[in-house]
Amino acid sequence: MAKSFSQRVLNWFDDYGRKNLPWQLNATPYSVWVSEIMLQQTQVATVIPYFERFMERYPSVEKLAQAELDEVLALWTGLGYYARARNLHKTAQVVSAHFGGEFPKTVSELETLPGIGRSTAGAILSLSLDKKATILDGNVKRVIARHAGVQQWTGIKKVHDDLWQIAEQHTPNERCQAYNQAMMDLGALLCTRTKPQCLICPIASDCHARLSGRPEQFPGKKPKSNKPIKSCAFAIKRNQNNEVFLVRRPNSGIWGGLWCFEQFESKNELEANLAGLGDIDTIWASFRHTFSHYHLDITPVLITLKHSDRVAETQGEWLSLADAKTRGLAAPVLKLLNRLEAEIESL
Ligand code: SF4
Repeated sequence: MAKSFSQRVLNWFDDYGRKNLPWQLNATPYSVWVSEIMLQQTQVATVIPYFERFMERYPSVEKLAQAELDEVLALWTGLGYYARARNLHKTAQVVSAHFGGEFPKTVSELETLPGIGRSTAGAILSLSLDKKATILDGNVKRVIARHAGVQQWTGIKKVHDDLWQIAEQHTPNERCQAYNQAMMDLGALLCTRTKPQCLICPIASDCHARLSGRPEQFPGKKPKSNKPIKSCAFAIKRNQNNEVFLVRRPNSGIWGGLWCFEQFESKNELEANLAGLGDIDTIWASFRHTFSHYHLDITPVLITLKHSDRVAETQGEWLSLADAKTRGLAAPVLKLLNRLEAEIESL
């Protein structure tokens, strides 16, 4: 009798699956949850050092709940999508205050927590407790869609719902931990976006995408939309002690809760606001930072204050470059601080 989908996947996992990722060793709901949130939109290799630092600093959900948000954001600097870090902190506080420091054990309860969707909830339960639960992250979605020959874009609600149904049908009653890990590994290692390795894939025999002869064209792509382009100017204010002035952004909106340079709509608006405060040293070349919904062209303007005294500022802080780098920073701000540091060192 032909082996079932899940049996073939599990057999492959026993021989080739990943079994030594840091979050697989002594996996708990807490460690799996942290890793799953970090792995959203981020590659395994990038996540590993962040995960290890994070777990060292916050070995339990209670420790994370007691941490300052600023400190959590600082550890997150460079990983991007900072809403993930804010939700992580918020969820730790909810788990600590309302669930006695233990993650709930059902998908529906987990889904009530900030930043935890259906797939992440399934991953927490299966990967840490070996409970039966289905996952459908980006990699798994691609495998399921190709095997089933789904030609449409998976962002369409009906397509998405159908994929969940198929994924649930494939999920085995036993060894769900190994099966879900295997599905993630298949998507990451074999059924990759551009060069699926069908010749060595355990589910190739009845995979519709492979049988079509053009597996990489499944599932369909998102219809193209042109992202709008916005622009702004950053005021990189520096005093005679080489301290820089940073402001903490409101918790909601882009770069919520992170430390940034003062931001203006344009260079002209920046000059009008900062007139008399100091001299503009240099205007660095504009560069582009891309968010999911738009591009932001940033013009960095370097200003050295006339006096060595700190000018009284109400909404931000003067920080040495070393101190600034311990704060949660928006990625372009970190990039600019590194550049400034390099310039100061070369003087
Ligand atoms: S046979 Fe090819 S397209 Fe189908 S799931 Fe395997 S790697 Fe992906």
